[in-house]
Amino acid sequence: MAEPYAFIDDDFKKASEAKISILEPTFTKSDAVYDTISVLNNRIFRFDDHVNRFENSCNQMDISIPYSREDIKSISMKCILKSGYSTAIFMLIGRRGPYLDLSKRDLRTCKNGLIVVVVPYYNIFGEEKNKTGLRVSVVDNKRVPFEAIDARVKNFNWMDLNRGSIEAYKKGFDNAVLCTPDGQLSEGPGFNIWIIKNGKLQTPKGSLLEGITRRSIFELSQDLKFEAEELPLYPEQLESADEAFACTTAAGITPITHVNGKSLGNGFPGLLTEKIQNSYWQKRRNGWHGTKIE
Ligand code: PLP
Repeated sequence: MAEPYAFIDDDFKKASEAKISILEPTFTKSDAVYDTISVLNNRIFRFDDHVNRFENSCNQMDISIPYSREDIKSISMKCILKSGYSTAIFMLIGRRGPYLDLSKRDLRTCKNGLIVVVVPYYNIFGEEKNKTGLRVSVVDNKRVPFEAIDARVKNFNWMDLNRGSIEAYKKGFDNAVLCTPDGQLSEGPGFNIWIIKNGKLQTPKGSLLEGITRRSIFELSQDLKFEAEELPLYPEQLESADEAFACTTAAGITPITHVNGKSLGNGFPGLLTEKIQNSYWQKRRNGWHGTKIE
């Protein structure tokens, strides 16, 4: 039977048996970087791109994991095979690890490590929203400034994003879109955003995670002959878009139908959005950018 599986402390085990100490800064200080990767029908999506981003995140945070790129790939494959899932999401985590001496708490002595964990595929919005669309709010809570934490480094410091989610939920919305402190659109908790205006695709540029799905949209737009560009965008442009959508590993492409309580277009998922969504999943099913698990 399939079940969540992990690689931790240089060993494979059931995820339910994988543990980390509550004394280590991975937990107490959110001192970890990660990447989230999807598997569809035994194929890992854009594996090299994800591992590149993961290695860059580790380097930026001075987390030095004792495994080569090839090790990371073979450990991931093994972990997926052990889990028994053919469609899944797995996380690579670079952890700061335990202190050598708890009485000194010197970060330089921590034993950095790799965690891999495989779970069944999930959709952060709920599968239904891929059809019906999201009602989002551009929330008052802002992103942490880029100068403090580089959003391109995928990391565990989610307080700004979580505060955004909670604000949106309290106001009765499905999800949040956050802005930078100077008011530019950034991203949502776990997803990038796109707007469509006059048949052209636009996505925020700057302080945000450069998503792998976002990158895939640039490629799809070439196939589908849409213009697509990244540029500084502001909340008014999202509110007055013809269509909009969210994109992420853990959902694919999800229409945004309402912003701050106002409908985009007729308030239903847009036709171009649906075209991009269908094309994305069709290509994924056909093995697009897929690495076979063996
Ligand atoms: N932005 C944030 C903050 C994320 O955590 C994610 C998550 O995975 C994304 C954007 C989307 O990136 P990707 O398409 O690589 O999943």
